[in-house]
Amino acid sequence: MEKRIGEGDDTYRGRDGNLTVTTMDWQDPLCEAFMAGAVSLGIPRNPDYNGQIQEGVSYCQRTILNGRRVSAATAFLHPARRRPNVDVRTHAHVTGIIFEGKRAVGVRYNRGGKHGDPLEIRATKEVILSGGAYNSPQLLQLSGVGSPDLLQSHGIEVRHALPGVGEGLQDHYAPRSVARVKNIRTINEMRRGLSLWGEAIKWATTRRGLLSLSPTMVYCFWHSGETTESSDLQLTFTPASYKEGVQGQLEDEPGMTVASWQQRPESRGYVRIRSADPFAPPIIQTNYLAEEIDRRVVVAGMKLARRLLASEPLKPYFAYEDFPGPKVTSDEELLAAATQRGTTTFHPGCTCRMGPADAPWAVVDDQLRVHGMEGLRVIDASIMPRMISANLNASTLMIADKASDMIRGKTPEAAAKLPEYA
Ligand SMILES: Cc1cc2nc3c(=O)[nH]c(=O)nc-3n(C[C@H](O)[C@H](O)[C@H](O)COP(=O)(O)OP(=O)(O)OC[C@H]3O[C@@H](n4cnc5c(N)ncnc54)[C@H](O)[C@@H]3O)c2cc1C
Repeated sequence: MEKRIGEGDDTYRGRDGNLTVTTMDWQDPLCEAFMAGAVSLGIPRNPDYNGQIQEGVSYCQRTILNGRRVSAATAFLHPARRRPNVDVRTHAHVTGIIFEGKRAVGVRYNRGGKHGDPLEIRATKEVILSGGAYNSPQLLQLSGVGSPDLLQSHGIEVRHALPGVGEGLQDHYAPRSVARVKNIRTINEMRRGLSLWGEAIKWATTRRGLLSLSPTMVYCFWHSGETTESSDLQLTFTPASYKEGVQGQLEDEPGMTVASWQQRPESRGYVRIRSADPFAPPIIQTNYLAEEIDRRVVVAGMKLARRLLASEPLKPYFAYEDFPGPKVTSDEELLAAATQRGTTTFHPGCTCRMGPADAPWAVVDDQLRVHGMEGLRVIDASIMPRMISANLNASTLMIADKASDMIRGKTPEAAAKLPEYA
């Protein structure tokens, strides 16, 4: 059975869709040993890290319905498509915003890619950009809204100087510590041969088992001790390991992985157009680990990952540390390993930040309207002023839900009462 967190209080229901947040129905011995290891190090089990207290260790919460991951499109867009006033145009690449003076009145797009037909669509009320942290700032810059120096260097006429557009990019940067595993099967072996067939039949008949899961199964939130902030570290446990340590292809031999990242990095990068061609990808500069404090917290995360993998409850299954490996011990060596094998966690944000009009970095106001423009909002992860202490999907859904009230001029609902934990 998919277990709902709390007693339905935490089950999020969209206006049209039905997005169910569940914990795992899977009791994996390696995950259980990892969590027991965390408890042995003083990290408590936490029934709901999205509740009042984040710190602790638990199985992941996921948006799963009937054994399938539920996307925002499935939960919200597909049900809304039945309405007569919803028109979804697919394979449509927006190439620019159409302005009349300072007012956004529509967009230009190509259907079917670069060589497709150039088309336009007009807005009767407003234009809403939801292109994500890379593409929303790119579209603003292409349309003449951004840093005058940048726009002019690409021959784009400045419609409105807004130097914060594209600046301030943040992401979670994660090195992955890997151990070889003995005495138990990991996902690496289970996705092959007869095991895989067994899992496929289980999923087809019950919508449960390995194929109903994402490989990352356990989340652990804790503090590095490098800052005064609580929960400045997130670690994830995966009873599997990846070739070259990069999420993707699984390794052949048994392995387990702990990814660790700093929740609220200070380092900031940028997204800037590389040309006036809307089909050219923008320059994405993340500047991971540029700040000293970020380097210290990431190293602290790797040390905690190592202690977790070597904890007493995991001993029966722990063969040896494969990455970074036992010879890597000093802070400098750990940092070098983090730099060598760390990757994005796919959490880009903060490139069209919400803030007051007089802040030089701010792009949108508290109603997500672009400063200095009319009829133009940005609604996606780019509006976050700084990186949040979580994966971004649920928060981005929340931003969209809240923004739908702003667009309709609805009075905000009273804050929901949070469940209390002893
Ligand atoms: C591989 C991967 C795994 C992830 N796993 C998790 C996870 O487990 N948990 C979690 O919380 N988060 C996860 N995330 C992050 C999460 O998906 C994002 O934070 C979230 O989707 C951001 O929402 P958004 O609306 O800002 O941008 P997006 O979801 O990226 O939406 C932007 C949309 O705009 C479209 N678009 C962009 N430019 C144009 C254009 N010019 N014309 C037309 N359309 C355009 C894009 O095609 C896209 O559909 C993951 C992300 C990735 C990539």
